[in-house]
Amino acid sequence: MKTIIEPFRIKSVEQITFTTREQRKQILKEAFYNPFKIKAEDIIIDLLTDSGTSAMSSKQWGRLMEGDESYAGAKSFYRFESAVKDLTGYENIIPTHQGRAAESILFKIFRDKGKITINNTHFDTTRANVTVNHLTAVDLPAHNNSELRFKGNMDCDSLVEKIKEVGSENVALIMITITNNAVGGLPVSMENIKQASSIAKKNNIPFFLDACRFAENAFFIKKYEKGFSERTVKSISQEMFSYADGCTMSAKKDALVNMGGFLALNDSNLAEEARNQLIITEGFPTYGGLNGRDLEAIAQGLNEIVDEDYLTYRIRSIEYVGERMLKIGIPIIQPIGGHAIFIDAQKLLSQIPRDQFPGQSLVCSFFLEGGIRSCEIGSVMFGKYNDELQEFIPAPYEYVRMAIPRRVYTQSHMDYVIEVSEEVYRKSKELGGYKIVKEPKFLRHFTAHFAPI
Ligand SMILES: *Cc1c(COP(=O)(O)O)cnc(C)c1O
Repeated sequence: MKTIIEPFRIKSVEQITFTTREQRKQILKEAFYNPFKIKAEDIIIDLLTDSGTSAMSSKQWGRLMEGDESYAGAKSFYRFESAVKDLTGYENIIPTHQGRAAESILFKIFRDKGKITINNTHFDTTRANVTVNHLTAVDLPAHNNSELRFKGNMDCDSLVEKIKEVGSENVALIMITITNNAVGGLPVSMENIKQASSIAKKNNIPFFLDACRFAENAFFIKKYEKGFSERTVKSISQEMFSYADGCTMSAKKDALVNMGGFLALNDSNLAEEARNQLIITEGFPTYGGLNGRDLEAIAQGLNEIVDEDYLTYRIRSIEYVGERMLKIGIPIIQPIGGHAIFIDAQKLLSQIPRDQFPGQSLVCSFFLEGGIRSCEIGSVMFGKYNDELQEFIPAPYEYVRMAIPRRVYTQSHMDYVIEVSEEVYRKSKELGGYKIVKEPKFLRHFTAHFAPI
């Protein structure tokens, strides 16, 4: 059979409310043209993020009832711990309420003024946690000079050079993010992880994985890296983890739950420090900011995510949307990554100057034409205005991301997204820019007000 079908059937459904174009025009206006301000019930297809939006399985829901809510030493903790240990091989497993809480603890224990952390690309919460702990984040992505399929790689030549330049004693931590979210959810090869690990070891620098999408990454390795086609995704994942001293994880991605995360590491002294931090901000080490039932759902989710029928469907469903968009003529980042489609809004809406936010215009158009919510990742999110020079400094690119939630939408939902994309494409040359009429001091994309120009 050629058709790849969803490897699940649906037992519980959630109603989608349909709106007309006229209604959406009004909704958009009332939300000040900022999709973050639109009520979720007014959205037809929500592609804002793949984080915490997964559909849980009947087994996960079942395990919620098994949650042991004891304050200390709950059975659920031990089941969670054993699932994470089995997958990662790390000695110390520390639950947190989400990924950034694990990052916060990790960088607090590596806090050291003047030192740097190196990542293939720091995710924005990772960068923020590095920065507040007086460390400096250095990105060394290899996307321009690496092989086509593994554009998420770390640039290992630059890594060696950077360590030489600053001195290994000034590198607090080396980290690889799998998949590399900031460059389009593109994977990192096993070879690259191995190489970075050996450079870290040689220089006595701790090496960690930001493992949010480890299963999607492992599946790409199985599919495209030589020598892995016969291996299971689980054993590929175990090998990736084996090259690092520990990992941070947002369970909201590849653990198929709506909330949760963990920090896992081998070094027991560091783990003790981490647990001391955990108690201050998250909770006792056997629950760390989560309910016993959440720990059960994560343990179960980690089993399900390495299922290869699931991953075949998952990666294919993203590819499917991407291929159709290319056919329509919509410029997207290629190759297509593991959790989202990234549209190049600057290219598509080339008539809109960058200080009038082509990405925002495209996001609004997708909502207006089809009730689809997507996310601007461009100059609204990362652009700046330099007051001294009175000059607008754009982001490096103007992307619109359509992130696909796990196990939530069917192929006909995706066909609808493609249909709407056709309509948006047809009208794209008529779209105009936006201006910001009100903005907060930090992270303006969440709450800013816009107006069409
Ligand atoms: C989502 C994400 C995080 C942060 O996790 P949260 O659970 O949202 O706090 C860190 N790194 C990467 C690569 C992510 O995608």
